[in-house]
Amino acid sequence: MLWVGLTGGIASGKTTVADLLRQRSVPIVDADSIAHQALQALRPELLQAFGSSILDSSNQVDRNKLGTLVFPDKNKLLKLEGIVHPWVQNRVSQERQSLATRGHDLAVYDVPLLFEKNLQDQFDRIIVVYSPRERSLQRLMNRNNLSLQEATQRMSHQMDIEDKKKKADFIIDNQGHLQDLENQVDQLLLAIRK
Ligand code: ATP
Repeated sequence: MLWVGLTGGIASGKTTVADLLRQRSVPIVDADSIAHQALQALRPELLQAFGSSILDSSNQVDRNKLGTLVFPDKNKLLKLEGIVHPWVQNRVSQERQSLATRGHDLAVYDVPLLFEKNLQDQFDRIIVVYSPRERSLQRLMNRNNLSLQEATQRMSHQMDIEDKKKKADFIIDNQGHLQDLENQVDQLLLAIRK
């Protein structure tokens, strides 16, 4: 089974492309949803490491509260990654294995921080969904109702999209209309399966 990484910049269109792939029966493993599951599964370890201020009103781990606590402190961030990362890796391996066992020829792991987390060696191929910075900023502002300043701030945490583009095996150029994106996804599937 070909194991393919799907990544890109913030608001470049990764989720939209993942949805188009799903519609074409390509199985997608979603890093964001696995990270959510990890926080629930690792609740006891996280509570012990960071205390009860990370819980929401229904006593579940609150992702935003956890982020606010760890992001300004490098040691805390490393500690969090040390707890969560092995669980996520293990879960992804299980899902990959299970898809291969079920006879899929291709599976895609949708992982926004693929390059930032240095995961590139895990994949047979990497797809980068590209849209220029200004276009992504505009889509991010529209989707999340953000000011230009807020959107720029969010984007500043990620590697430059032009650098990601250079590392891709396949580039999906999402500057145009959705129909154009669909056509590129169809072409991509043909090319990848060749
Ligand atoms: P994030 O990094 O925040 O997870 P993402 O890379 O998954 O974002 P999407 O959510 O797919 O990006 O797209 C960002 C926004 O732009 C969404 O509101 C989406 O509907 C819109 N969008 C994506 N592609 C196009 C397109 N070709 N034309 C118009 N709007 C688009």
